[in-house]
Amino acid sequence: MSLLCLGKREGDIVVSGEIFLQQNIQGCDKVSNKAVLVIDMLVDFIYFLGALYVGDEPARVVFPIADLLERERAEGTKIIYICDRHKREDAEFKMFPPHCIEGTKGAGIVSELKPEEGDLIIYKRRYSAFSGTDLDITLREHGINELVLVGVCTNICVLYTAADARNLNYLVSVPKNCVASFDSSAHEFALNEMEKTLGVKVF
Ligand SMILES: [Zn+2]
Repeated sequence: MSLLCLGKREGDIVVSGEIFLQQNIQGCDKVSNKAVLVIDMLVDFIYFLGALYVGDEPARVVFPIADLLERERAEGTKIIYICDRHKREDAEFKMFPPHCIEGTKGAGIVSELKPEEGDLIIYKRRYSAFSGTDLDITLREHGINELVLVGVCTNICVLYTAADARNLNYLVSVPKNCVASFDSSAHEFALNEMEKTLGVKVF
């Protein structure tokens, strides 16, 4: 059992109380201190008849993500689904057509990537998976200090989740074949921004 069980991250100050805490937090016997965040792989975005279908390019990442999840589950990595979910009157619909409304099929995770036992689901209303959610405290409870981001869209929810994660000192990596956008130039911009400005490992 290590101090990583506390969600300790690079640069955090170790205090004596951590020794007590690490013995009292559930889930500390994990093999990995890494989590994969599966961002917005939802019916309304990915399937052709979805309410906010984002085009062919995002559909390309479904099977690479499935392969990655299989490998990461085998290594004991925590898998966390980050799912857009809105009320019918959400302010975001002033910018985008209504999508991912709670209780609708469109808000569901695509069938190719269904969660398995032990996976977590966190719902969000804004671009960043950290905005208005308990993601940060959940990661700390599981001793996670490293995140792999996959899903859509590279320049929207992936980018702003990466920004918040880096501001909180998480180590972040993004496999290029597992993120996509409806806008190819914005996709490239976001990858570059994450790598050069945020210090994300893009590979
Ligand atoms: Zn939304």
